[in-house]
Order: sequence, then structure tokens, then C-alpha cells
Amino acid sequence: MELGEIQAALGPSQPRFRARQIYDAVYRRRIIDLSAISTLPRPLREKLASELPIGLPAIEKRFDSTDGTRRYLLHLADGKTVETVWMPEGERSTICISSQVGCPVNCAFCLTALLGLERNLTAGEIVGQVLRAAADNSLEANADRVNIVMMGQGEPLLNLAGVIKATRLLTDPEGMAISPRRITLSTSGIIPKIVEMAREPVRPKLAISLNASTEEQRRELMPITRKYHLKVLLDACREYPLRAWEKLTFEYVLLKGVNDSDADARRVVKLLANLNAKVNLIALNPGPGIDFETPSAGRVASFQSIVRKAMPCFIRKPRGLDVFAACGQLKRMELVALAP
Ligand code: SAH
Ligand code: SF4
Repeated sequence: MELGEIQAALGPSQPRFRARQIYDAVYRRRIIDLSAISTLPRPLREKLASELPIGLPAIEKRFDSTDGTRRYLLHLADGKTVETVWMPEGERSTICISSQVGCPVNCAFCLTALLGLERNLTAGEIVGQVLRAAADNSLEANADRVNIVMMGQGEPLLNLAGVIKATRLLTDPEGMAISPRRITLSTSGIIPKIVEMAREPVRPKLAISLNASTEEQRRELMPITRKYHLKVLLDACREYPLRAWEKLTFEYVLLKGVNDSDADARRVVKLLANLNAKVNLIALNPGPGIDFETPSAGRVASFQSIVRKAMPCFIRKPRGLDVFAACGQLKRMELVALAP
């Protein structure tokens, strides 16, 4: 909740500084249990803990991977669940958060797509995922040792108002104070919303899921391309106002025998020419109901070596595969449970 909303929720009977005290405790000091905010009078603390809708989701289940990744199934106030992934890596950890329950975009290789969209998350629920994961992993307040990626369930640009408000809360210097350089939003390419996001003074970094080297191929893999053409998408990318420190990231899921040839790699280089870009390659994480295969490590390396001659190109290593926390796997367990 933003400061003004906390103020409004408290009502006129409370002095104005109370809202600031609560905001400071939750977002700057990350005291997520409102009944433990010692700067507040006890009766108020108890009232708040039961009544103030800050949107903090509860941990329903936690799945710990052997590589340190933790996948959370979080319970929202209306009983729906959403997933968040914690990925420790040396000094800095990454928290992968969801923007919607399910996803309305039906990419052929993604498990989340099979669920369809249930609803958008509120800004409180988006930020709440970060607060929950940070608290459960004893991340110190203000340590700024996290990267946030909006790459969990959902298409974040179809919940632009929610994700922008969440970004303001995450980056507020008086609150969680996470640098916008550490927050990345990944989209399947909702062109008008990319244009809209470009106008926001506080916004995450932009990553685009490219996933194909031709218009036809992308239309097969990502039906949303029928509405938002690849050519127009790349034009919008060229117009996108990058900040001095920023590059566009393009993600590319490699599917064996479909989009992983050397010719595909050369076409990707051509498509992204004249863009200040880097490419992240993700070898497919397989799943039930997904009719694609993972290319060999050699194929992935060959693809990378071609793209790398033109721009930075990295291979994203899968995290938490054993607990189905990797890209495109979220919701797997629920789907398996649903299977006949
Ligand atoms: N909806 C947004 C963000 C979430 S998906 C988007 O599509 O960009 C995050 C990334 O995971 C995307 O780049 C997507 O292409 C990739 N992805 C989806 N399914 C995958 C799978 N089965 N294996 C590997 N990557 C996958
Ligand atoms: Fe939605 Fe992204 Fe999965 Fe496509 S890849 S279905 S946009 S979550």
C-alpha cells in the first residue's frame, strides 16, 4: 500500500504520522508482522494486524531445490494461489515474482499458459511476494542484495497499473529502496503497453521474449504475434527510450529442431541489429503437455557463439528444476494433480 492508502485505511481518528510509521516499518525495516511494530501503541497494532489490507500473501507450501532455489506457493486473501521463486547466487539473490494468477497469453511451450488467466495481482500482492521471500530467507532490511525479475506467472504488461505501482513501492528511497536497475520486467510483446511503460518516470528494465527468428515462426510459437507483429514490436524496441545504463534484454527459448539452428541464430542477429541489446538463451524446460524437446548443450553453444559475435549473449542456466521452479514450469504441480 502506498502511504496515502495507509492513511485512508487508518481513518481520521489516527494522527497523520501513524501512516508514515507503518509504511516505514513494513517497507523500510521489513517488519511484515504488523502486530510486532513496536513504535505503535499495542491496541492499534492488534487492530492493524487483523484489519489493514496490505496484501501480504501467506506461505502455503515451500519446495526446496538441491541447488538452493526455493519455490513458494503463496496464498492470497481470496484463496487463490500464486508462485514466487527465490534463487540465491553468491552475494546477490534473485526473486522471481508473478504479476497475474495464470496467464492469458498462450505460448505453445509454456505451462502457465495452460491455466488461462484467473485475475491480476494487486500492487500489494506483487510487493508482498518480495517481502515474504526476503523475510523467509532472512534478507537484511536495506541490504539491497536482491534482483527482482517479473518473470513468474502472468504477462506483466497486461497488469501495467499493478506492476508500475509495485515498482514505485519497491524503489521508494524511503521504503524498500531497491534500485530500478535491479528490477526487470519480461513481456511477450504487448506493443501498446511497451509504449505506455516508456512514459513512466519510475519503471523496471525491459526484457522481451523473442523466442523466434521469423514472423511466421513466432506466430506459431506465440499466437499473440497475430495481433502484435514481430516487425512492429522491433520498431517499438528501437523507439524505446533507454536510460543511460540500460540495455534491452531479449529472451529466446531454444526448442530442438524448431528455432535452434545456426540459420536462426544468424536471423536473430539481423533482427536485433541497431538495437542496444543483449540476448539470454533458455534451453526449453520440458513439462507434461508441452510438445517440444530440449536441444543438446552443443546446439545451444553453437547458437550462442553466433549471436555472441554481434552482441552480449548468455545461456540462462535452469534453476530449481527438481522442484519445478524453472522458467515455464510454474503451475506444473497443480496441472499434474489435475491430470486424469
Ligand atoms: N510472461 C512473460 C514473463 C514470464 S515467462 C514473458 O513471457 O516474457 C518468463 C520467460 O520464460 C519467458 O522468456 C518465456 O519465454 C520463458 N519460458 C516459458 N516457458 C518456458 C519453458 N518451458 N522453458 C524455458 N523457458 C520458458
Ligand atoms: Fe504467459 Fe509468458 Fe508463459 Fe507466454 S511465456 S504463456 S506470456 S507466462
